[in-house]
Amino acid sequence: MYRLSSEQQKIVDRAKEISEKFIGPRAAQVDKDGTYPMESMKALAQEGFWGLNIASEFGGMGQGMRVMCAVLDEIAQKCASTAMCYKMHLCGTTAYNAAVNKPVDVLRAAAKGKHLTTLAWSEFGSRGHFWVPISQEQRRNGKIILNASKSMITTANDADSYVVTTRWSEAKTPVDNMLYMVLKKDQGISVPGNWDGLGMRGNDSAPLTFRDVTIGEDRALCEPGKGLDMMLYVVLPVFALGNAAISIGIAEAAVKATHFHITNGKFQHLNQRLADIPLERARLAQIRIETDRARAHLAAALDTVENPGPTTVLMVLESKAAAAETAIRVTDIALLASGGRGFSRNLSGNLGVERNFRDARAAQVMGPSSDMIHELIGRALCGMELFS
Ligand SMILES: Cc1cc2nc3c(=O)[nH]c(=O)nc-3n(C[C@H](O)[C@H](O)[C@H](O)COP(=O)(O)OP(=O)(O)OC[C@H]3O[C@@H](n4cnc5c(N)ncnc54)[C@H](O)[C@@H]3O)c2cc1C
Repeated sequence: MYRLSSEQQKIVDRAKEISEKFIGPRAAQVDKDGTYPMESMKALAQEGFWGLNIASEFGGMGQGMRVMCAVLDEIAQKCASTAMCYKMHLCGTTAYNAAVNKPVDVLRAAAKGKHLTTLAWSEFGSRGHFWVPISQEQRRNGKIILNASKSMITTANDADSYVVTTRWSEAKTPVDNMLYMVLKKDQGISVPGNWDGLGMRGNDSAPLTFRDVTIGEDRALCEPGKGLDMMLYVVLPVFALGNAAISIGIAEAAVKATHFHITNGKFQHLNQRLADIPLERARLAQIRIETDRARAHLAAALDTVENPGPTTVLMVLESKAAAAETAIRVTDIALLASGGRGFSRNLSGNLGVERNFRDARAAQVMGPSSDMIHELIGRALCGMELFS
């Protein structure tokens, strides 16, 4: 459905191979222990995938969002936590690629699998309204001083850098933002809590505190006060479409597990399979249709991103919400269809469906949440301003 060229398909096939060989076998343990999937991330790094969307002049693969979505879909089918950590890294490298001061050394290191990044946007004070940082930079002796309480930051402990939002020192409105690159080694960064989520348990989406973190002007990623444009028009499409692809990958995993269960589950006393029950077949058909529909929607959103028009922003937002809602419905039905085995967390013989069910729920609360997307689309359709 992603309609890839043969060269693009080769990249996705390699991601699928890595997912099957290295990422999938670790997924249940990552979920059980809530540990960061560093080994899985390294498996991607070794094959150059940390540089998937980094320009080739910096050693990256120079791929766009179509390949990114197909790759994330494959990874999420095996381990949604890894897919989410990887997607946040790609959001970070997107910002660095487009930055006014391109951090060339960091881009080159990321392409070599030696630099991991993420977005540090959400703040306790503005909650899911990630586009309105409460924190505000200060300027002293030509330096920028950052103080901020970020709420849930994927890869909080293991990232080598963070793409940090804060209000511009000369802001006239609450959305005159700045985006900066902050390195893990900069003084004043701490992780004051830990992540223990219902799903995406390997994500390490922990809080992050910046106390008098002092950086140079060269760390600015955007023009003065223009962070919102970079957030919405450069990074958000990668975030939202990548999120949609992960939701679809989770749904696909649940469809495959359901198919496996009902075609292999037997009633020995009747000499029948679960698949001989019409209701079970109908459930499988329904989740197949819903997953295909969400993937087709994502492919249509990718078409409009490549050929932008008046509906592009709405399609991008829609696809995140549509895929999140699909994954929740599909995993719910898959849980019913796969009975006690689907419900079980037993590591051996685990179908993964109960993990899919929990992982699917993260997308609806990750900003912009599904509620917020409905609100934004409603506002757009009624001719109202989107972000204020
Ligand atoms: C797994 C995971 C990983 C994350 N990783 C990152 C990361 O790497 N970087 C980062 O910056 N952030 C990250 N976040 C944070 C995320 O993006 C959101 O900011 C956060 O989940 C939502 O904020 P909140 O919990 O304060 O929700 P709240 O703002 O408290 O929302 C509560 C409820 O109100 C609804 N709501 C709020 N505002 C509106 C509105 N205007 N219209 C309609 N409904 C509304 C919400 O939909 C929700 O149902 C992550 C979150 C999760 C769950």
